[in-house]
Amino acid sequence: MPAIRRLSDATINRIATGEVIERPAAAVKELVENALDAGARRIEVLLTGGGIARMEIIDDGCGIAADQLALALERHATSKLADETLVRIATLGFRGEALPSIGAAARLTLISRPEGQDSACRVQVAGGAIGPVAPAPGVKGTRAIVEDLFYATPARRKFLRSPRAEGDAAERAVWRLALAAPHVAFRLVADERVIFDLPAQDEAARVAALFGRETASSLLPLEAERDGVRLTGLIGPASLSRATMALQSFVVNGRPVVDPLLRLGLRLAYRDVVPAGRHAVAALRLTVPDEALDVNVHPAKTELRFADGNGVRSLLIGAIGRALARPVSLANAPVALPSLALRPPPSASWPAPRPPGPVARGFAEAELALAAPPAARVFAPPPMPEAAPVPEHPLGAPIAQILDTYILAAAPDGALVLVDQHAAHERLTEERLREEFSAGRIAAQPLLVPVVVEVSPSEAARLLAESETLARLGLEIEAFGPGAVLVRAVPAALKNPDAAGLLRDLAEEFAEADAPLALEARLDAALARLACHRSIRAGRRLQREEMEALLREMEATPRAATCSHGRPTFLKLTRAELEKMFGRRN
Ligand code: ADP
Ligand code: MG
Repeated sequence: MPAIRRLSDATINRIATGEVIERPAAAVKELVENALDAGARRIEVLLTGGGIARMEIIDDGCGIAADQLALALERHATSKLADETLVRIATLGFRGEALPSIGAAARLTLISRPEGQDSACRVQVAGGAIGPVAPAPGVKGTRAIVEDLFYATPARRKFLRSPRAEGDAAERAVWRLALAAPHVAFRLVADERVIFDLPAQDEAARVAALFGRETASSLLPLEAERDGVRLTGLIGPASLSRATMALQSFVVNGRPVVDPLLRLGLRLAYRDVVPAGRHAVAALRLTVPDEALDVNVHPAKTELRFADGNGVRSLLIGAIGRALARPVSLANAPVALPSLALRPPPSASWPAPRPPGPVARGFAEAELALAAPPAARVFAPPPMPEAAPVPEHPLGAPIAQILDTYILAAAPDGALVLVDQHAAHERLTEERLREEFSAGRIAAQPLLVPVVVEVSPSEAARLLAESETLARLGLEIEAFGPGAVLVRAVPAALKNPDAAGLLRDLAEEFAEADAPLALEARLDAALARLACHRSIRAGRRLQREEMEALLREMEATPRAATCSHGRPTFLKLTRAELEKMFGRRN
């Protein structure tokens, strides 16, 4: 057995490098954080070859005095921890690990000049060896140049992805920091391409610049506070979702974080309105009392520990729920259909659509030509007055029902509106159930003859584990052997539900959640399922009055633009889009 010995500083630094600097994105993040900690008003980041070949970070911050330059490169040397309790950490850095770690893995040059110092000084560290400090030309502030990342640790270099992928990640790291510090001017250049060049600005302007103006124009402002924790920011409406989490930014006490608790909170908050596999858009900022936060969890400091994680999550879910609950308006109509214009004309073998009622003809034919399968049926409700749409009804007046599934309406601004009757009704039912639930009015209807529903043993277990949640919604179940569940009562509101279908759906819903859901999320999920089972089916013919009532109720109901599964409840084709499709304008 070999003797125990101390590792050399050089080796210690190389090991630390792996924790702090695992790729160019991490190095760039540390160096920009240093610039922010130095009080910079302007930061410039230049990346070459994905940051692997070279990165340069230039700031106009406080600088490092000549006699401190070499010390800055030493391990655990920091100017930022005045008291060593690690409780109140106001700066982004505090471990004194970044510069020595980068210097152990690459060639790092620092050129710095504090205010009042005659000239700048320069120091270089390569593969852990610190060179002499010497005067050099330079203005106030600091330039950090990193070359040949991981040349000194080839084992790590092998794990790097392509310069392109590393460059993307590095750009993202700067993007996050730029969102966290809108009051600082940021310029990012990658391989001589200017990625962004932003002046000091307010938060909304920064989000607009970094999320894209079009996305930003639909974002909803958010503000909430609870127990000293403040949440502000901008979030996407229900109709806006993305295939990835790329447009999600969390900033906690000025620090950009990628935190699982916050991500999960956001997902739960949007669970109802964003389709599975899609992701909400949000730029959120939390301000938490220092003593309620531990940032010393992870070397890269991107994960946090909240003293009251549940409180933070409820704050997030509640605030987002309220913001999304604003009723539909014309201003944020969910989906336009420009892509329809690009569809090939319907195949000639389709039978010509049966002529619809006289009034509906023009609109209905246009729709059929775009979307109808062969058996298209259009139902124009009999008494069809020449109803001019009333301006205060954004979804307009119903004109016809198509395929017994969609309601066609004309909006006051000349737009065509198509409503999916099932999706829309499902949302209305869910909101009504939700209201009943919060008023404590969901009644259970005992069944005269309890129903035995056969399910798989795992489904049975899952349902029984939730029996208390379900009981609060009026659904009373009991164990009935390994592969079955006994239903004693159903929610009165559901009239005659198909108990078996409902239970299977619920089991699936509870199984889908890949993390234990909070009670409110489980209730939400169950409510959505109940709503689905009580709603107007696609394929049911509606009378004009029913259509009218559905449209009016949608306008008055929160979150009516999407169904409980996140699909849109209505689509809109504006007058301008119609004119474009018909070649009346470009
Ligand atoms: P930490 O940021 O955790 O203190 P670093 O290794 O990143 O550790 O930096 C070490 C020290 O070097 C900092 O505490 C700071 O005093 C100084 N420093 C680093 N970068 C800059 C900069 N851009 N401007 C001014 N001082 C800097
Ligand atoms: Mg640092």
